Amino acid sequence: MSVLVVGSLALDSIETPFGSVKDSLGGSAVFISVAASYFVNPIRLVGVVGGDFPKTGVDFLHEREVDLDGMQVIEHGKTFRWSGRYRYDLNERDTLSTDLNVFEKFDPKIPETYRKSRCVCLGNIDPVLQRKVLDQMEKPRIVVCDTMNYWIERKNRELRETLKLINVLILNDSEARLLSREPNLIKAARVIRGLGPSVVIIKKGEHGALLCTESLVFSAPAYPMENIFDPTGAGDSFAGGFVGWLARTDDMSEENLKRAVIYGSTLASFCVEKFGIDGLRDLTYLQIQDRFREFRELSRFDED
Ligand code: AMP
Repeated sequence: MSVLVVGSLALDSIETPFGSVKDSLGGSAVFISVAASYFVNPIRLVGVVGGDFPKTGVDFLHEREVDLDGMQVIEHGKTFRWSGRYRYDLNERDTLSTDLNVFEKFDPKIPETYRKSRCVCLGNIDPVLQRKVLDQMEKPRIVVCDTMNYWIERKNRELRETLKLINVLILNDSEARLLSREPNLIKAARVIRGLGPSVVIIKKGEHGALLCTESLVFSAPAYPMENIFDPTGAGDSFAGGFVGWLARTDDMSEENLKRAVIYGSTLASFCVEKFGIDGLRDLTYLQIQDRFREFRELSRFDED
């Protein structure tokens, strides 16, 4: 299945207790596309950058067979920049600055050749823009959407309109509670499914993820990591791995959704092992398979 990814392309400056990087390649669309590219090619990316977006970033995305025909370049503008700092507990992140720059006036235009993409992954952007993307698509088979508390709080009504049009919503535990106004995550997933998506995936950071459908609650384990350097992009890598696997297999059965969640967790675990996008740079499909199998062993036990 062809995959269309829409989201931010960014230059991230990140500080963790283990070091820091400045203007490193990032953004939701970048992490999603690169993670998904290990499963299907090409990935079609729609986003916007300024004239300062580095050629090394473009070259890397091309190497990963990400199709950039839908990437708008505003020559006289500056690329979106985000900076964040993690404390000793890497679950806690402070956003130090968000400079929207060219992203402020982003108006997603889906090239004619992308409109029949069967799988759409909407990265975390304004829900109004997410809907604008869907308005231009011709009956995608599956629409996966990410969001965050920023939009839940500021654009709640618009987000609810978008949710009516999507199949899978991926969000973290605090966002699920905020959106549903329900503290229990199983009940929260049910409330959110009532808003539109038939599948809700709730990420719980280092504690794994919950996959909820009408008839299933699947609890995916977290990979026990000893070396986490930078959690930036973990959520987007999860979405990319999830979407990539579904697109590769074209199978929406519950068993395959479970596998997709484990592939999402697998890509997220590679992402956090290095700074920025580096954890996703040189993976092989074999490495991904090996870690996927390790996930299975993590929670397998004999009955007697
Ligand atoms: P994650 O760690 O998966 O939540 O995603 C981190 C990525 O999201 C970074 O590469 C940032 O550039 C990007 N990002 C942060 N804030 C925003 C925002 N408001 N809109 C779009 N992308 C963002």
